[in-house]
Amino acid sequence: MKFYFLLLLAISLSHILSVTVLALRKNSVFSRSFAFLGGMASFSVSSYIVTLFYFGEKAGLVTAGVFFASLDWLLLLFLNYVFIFTRNQNVQRKNISQLKNIYFVAGTLDTVSLLLNAIFKHAFLINPSIDNAGDFICWIYSFKLPYNLHLIFCYIIVLHIVLYLVYRTFTNKGFYRRKYFSLLMPFVFLIILNVVFILFKWNFDYSLIFYAVLGAAVFYLTFYSIPLYVEREMRINIASCTEEECIVCYDLEGKVFYVNPHANEILEKRADIRDKVGDCQEQFILSYGRASQSSTWQYKFENDGNVEIYSFDFKVLYDSKGRLAGSFLKFEDKTQEILQLKQQQYNATHDLLTGLYNSQTFSEKVHDELIENPEEEYLLIATDIENFKLINDLFGPKRGDEILKCQASMFSEKKYGKCIYGRISADKFALLIRESKFNPDELIADAKSVQNGIKEIDYQVKIYLGVYRISDNHENVQNMIDKAFLAIRKIYGSYEKTLAYYDSSLIDDLMLRQRVLNDFQNAINRSEFCIYLQGQFDRNQKLIGCESLTRWNHPERGMLSPSEFMEPLEKSGFIYRLDDYIWESSVKILSEWKQKGISAYISINISPRDFYHIDVLGRFRELLQKYDFDPEKLNIEITETQVVSKDEESFVIINGLKELGFCIELDDFGCGYSSFKTLEDFDFDVLKIDMEFLHTCKDTAKAQNIIRSIIKMAKTLGIKTVTEGVEQKSQFDFLCEAGCDVFQGYFFSKPISVEEFTEKFLEEK
Ligand code: C2E
Ligand code: CA
Ligand code: CA
Repeated sequence: MKFYFLLLLAISLSHILSVTVLALRKNSVFSRSFAFLGGMASFSVSSYIVTLFYFGEKAGLVTAGVFFASLDWLLLLFLNYVFIFTRNQNVQRKNISQLKNIYFVAGTLDTVSLLLNAIFKHAFLINPSIDNAGDFICWIYSFKLPYNLHLIFCYIIVLHIVLYLVYRTFTNKGFYRRKYFSLLMPFVFLIILNVVFILFKWNFDYSLIFYAVLGAAVFYLTFYSIPLYVEREMRINIASCTEEECIVCYDLEGKVFYVNPHANEILEKRADIRDKVGDCQEQFILSYGRASQSSTWQYKFENDGNVEIYSFDFKVLYDSKGRLAGSFLKFEDKTQEILQLKQQQYNATHDLLTGLYNSQTFSEKVHDELIENPEEEYLLIATDIENFKLINDLFGPKRGDEILKCQASMFSEKKYGKCIYGRISADKFALLIRESKFNPDELIADAKSVQNGIKEIDYQVKIYLGVYRISDNHENVQNMIDKAFLAIRKIYGSYEKTLAYYDSSLIDDLMLRQRVLNDFQNAINRSEFCIYLQGQFDRNQKLIGCESLTRWNHPERGMLSPSEFMEPLEKSGFIYRLDDYIWESSVKILSEWKQKGISAYISINISPRDFYHIDVLGRFRELLQKYDFDPEKLNIEITETQVVSKDEESFVIINGLKELGFCIELDDFGCGYSSFKTLEDFDFDVLKIDMEFLHTCKDTAKAQNIIRSIIKMAKTLGIKTVTEGVEQKSQFDFLCEAGCDVFQGYFFSKPISVEEFTEKFLEEK
């Protein structure tokens, strides 16, 4: 009999131990308290098993004392577990009641008393019960009063547990009623069994075998019993979550019935998150059945000095019949994701090189600012770096970037107040400032100071400023930006002007330019372009040649001079088609002259853009083959911009043209980049000085000196000089005296049609 009982006890013990281990591995909010309970039950059963072996009376008193005391703690842990199990909790909250403290003190005193019984024998005595064969069966206990105190203490806790479970069973409905009742039943059965053991003074306490049954019931009820009606729904939700996501499922009362391991791990160690989850859950419950099907919260937490952002997503769970069944929480550490999102947002709204707003964001910010402050006066300012492409080509994109960064730091808020600044495209920036903060001189000075930030390059970086005064805050911002840039076009390329204001005539100009491009194709086909010739004279005022200058005989607008159509054609690149036409026409005239025995030469112009679009050298070679004319009678005027980048190709083309026998002139010397270095690098035949240079210089004597030295220097290099723009006799006299060889200008003749030119200068001969 005793053997079988011991066997059953051993099975019970191993069973309790295994559910304890399983519970620990469950990693749920209940795991820890369940493990304590299981651990204590195993201890009780083990110590009881020890009392069934004879090691002498002293040892018997000790082991029996330990066993009785362990029952106190087993019951207390069970009570605690029942609290946790049935509590209307979503997370563990510290709520240690006064009662718990009293129980703890009483349990400790009782334990001490039961252990001291081994010495004082005040609580119980033991006598061995021996069977017929003389073997030890068990101890027969005779109890004294202090032991009754122990019993009373135990029964108070039992009563507490029973009453509490009965109360929870009756105050709940449906699933939870069944769940609490399922816990109550095995417990009551076990207690009855224990009472019977005591009352009938059985040899063995059979109730201990039922610890395993109770343990299994508690284990199942804790970890597996989920209301069926939410289980399906919950599983679908959980299945769609990753391991990284934290999941908690609540029933209708807000009780947790599922926590995944990751959530459990975080909730256990992070009280701040635990509390927030609790708050959110309470709030969400309040909205049950009303408006919200789901709610999302996002909170910042501090963890070891780092900011963490967590999102809490709650949603309602329904059962298969569409009834409200509970709620589902998914919470996640979104810190990385949000930081990434912020970075992406930043990248999408900012220019990465300069850190300024990009065009789109600039427009949006400007729009908002203007709408929010309708009573303020604003200016939209555009900036553009001159020849930025050339800078990139000459000094490399790295230097180009450097310049852009300098430009980006040009406007400091300190000076201009709250302003909005953005990069619109490559080298174009825009700024919105209040009119009250606008000081054109300061702005120009700042634009000039960008140069100072760039070291080691021998190049004058020029920034143009276009200002548009905003009159209608509701105007499309892109229009405003366009208008500010339009103002720049008015002064682009000018040396003395840096800042220009937009005015409505600029729009008319723009339309005119557009019209030029639209009409151009037809104009070429209908031969609307014609040549005007302007004579060139020697010191004796004798005609020796002429410059071929284009005119457009426009059917509606009349005779147009190059200033009215050249720029849009150059910008769009169409100029090569016009030039090609003019070159061929000029060559035709030369070959006619050759037949008539006229020895005058013709100078033609080449636009720097032609070099990009056509094979200039090949084209002139073709002309030489096609027409009968002397190449030395064709002068080719090249501007300095064409050769300033000094690339290999320019050398090849210019030398090629020279080899074909053409005469190469450097046009507009004295304007633009003019440098003596260019004269050294290229082998020009003629240097053409622009008198315009004399007009723009205030100190006439100084300008005259410069012209003198240019002519002198050209002479030493063996280069012939032509001065154009000669309007007065005095200028002619001065130039003669300075040693100039050839003269061109209104003083002699304006550009005139070929017929007129022939009649005036050639037929007389
Ligand atoms: P440019 O090559 O410097 O031509 C000289 C310009 O000065 C001509 O203007 C001429 O009419 C003007 N001019 C001549 N003498 C005087 C004077 O005494 N006083 C003043 N104030 N001006 C004088 P135009 O014909 O209007 O041509 C302007 C520019 O257009 C030319 O400057 C040239 O760069 C360009 N151009 C003209 N025809 C062609 C062409 O067929 N192809 C290319 N690529 N450019 C052309
Ligand atoms: Ca010219
Ligand atoms: Ca010229």
